[in-house]
Amino acid sequence: MTREYQRCTRCVMDTTDSRIEFDENGVCDHCRNFDQNIKPYWKPNENRLDELKAIAEEIRASRKGDYDCVLGLSGGADSSYLAYVAKEIMGLSPLVIVVDTGWNLNVAVENIERIVKGLDLDMYTEVINWKEMADLQLSFFKASISSCDYPQDHTIFATLYNYAVKHGIKYVLTGSNNSTEFIRPPVEWLYMNDVTMAKDIHRRFGKIPLKTYPTCSMLRYKILYRYVYGMRRVYPLDYVVYDKAEAMELLHERFGWEKYENKHYENVFTRFFEGYYLPHKFGFDTRKNVCSNQILAGTMTREEALELLSRPPYDPDQMELDKQYVAKKLGVTAEEFDGIIEQPSKTPADYRNQMWVIRLGVTVSKLLGIEKRNLRV
Ligand SMILES: [Zn+2]
Repeated sequence: MTREYQRCTRCVMDTTDSRIEFDENGVCDHCRNFDQNIKPYWKPNENRLDELKAIAEEIRASRKGDYDCVLGLSGGADSSYLAYVAKEIMGLSPLVIVVDTGWNLNVAVENIERIVKGLDLDMYTEVINWKEMADLQLSFFKASISSCDYPQDHTIFATLYNYAVKHGIKYVLTGSNNSTEFIRPPVEWLYMNDVTMAKDIHRRFGKIPLKTYPTCSMLRYKILYRYVYGMRRVYPLDYVVYDKAEAMELLHERFGWEKYENKHYENVFTRFFEGYYLPHKFGFDTRKNVCSNQILAGTMTREEALELLSRPPYDPDQMELDKQYVAKKLGVTAEEFDGIIEQPSKTPADYRNQMWVIRLGVTVSKLLGIEKRNLRV
């Protein structure tokens, strides 16, 4: 059943989120949820430094070896600012973990070096076996689903968690900041971390065995790591006033950090995936989500958002070059890659999956009041 196209009259979310619901004024349920459940408690200009310092003390007290926590550094604004907050504001001794998935742009690599050097941090780099990475990545494209960012994203967080547990480091710092992300991307835009689905996809489309590709299932990190090994995830950016423009300015002045043209565009794959693959094949444009958050936060008008969305996510000539680059790196011709992309779209339901674990997790989080956003799965 296809639904008639409709866009929220207040934010810019639309029916590419298949579960979106509109009221008689055409306002979507994400906006209503923000008004009812998030706005009353939202304090964007309040530093919670006392709370952050108390957390830092606990983290320092847990230290057994050279480090008291790990943090993943991509070279982007969020993780770079996180490294700064961890070292200079929280006074921690983090080990920086860098995962080389084979797609990083030079600007990211240079930013990582600048931050690590400028803050005098130690760094561990995990280089993912490229043949395995490419085989899994091509399998995901052949599976024709939207979550083709799995091979890269999953291995980044799996490396981080597995490293922490293996080395007895209890705390993992993450650069996500929930305080300005009121609207979670619809689950169909980003369906993450389902190892069962990845295995099924690789079994059907893969050509070589995955011997070293790091994985970590949802049950493993949510139950085993959390309750048996006591691993904790901490979100320091939720405790500080995080104005991204100001943060980038500080990083530039202090460390010579350079900004990218767009969030998450630190790497060719992500640029191609978010800028071309998702909008072209599924109509999912992550900018709708980013802009809608800003509209609700009052930092962007709906008109500005619509103007932005009327333009392509990035330069069409660059898209074509990226497509050729991605195809070549994955070992197929540009024509073969086009053929794969143009296959009919599929969803996780077409494969073995662990959607029930996510549903259970969301239900529990909502019951406990941890998840206030309007996430429907
Ligand atoms: Zn809305």
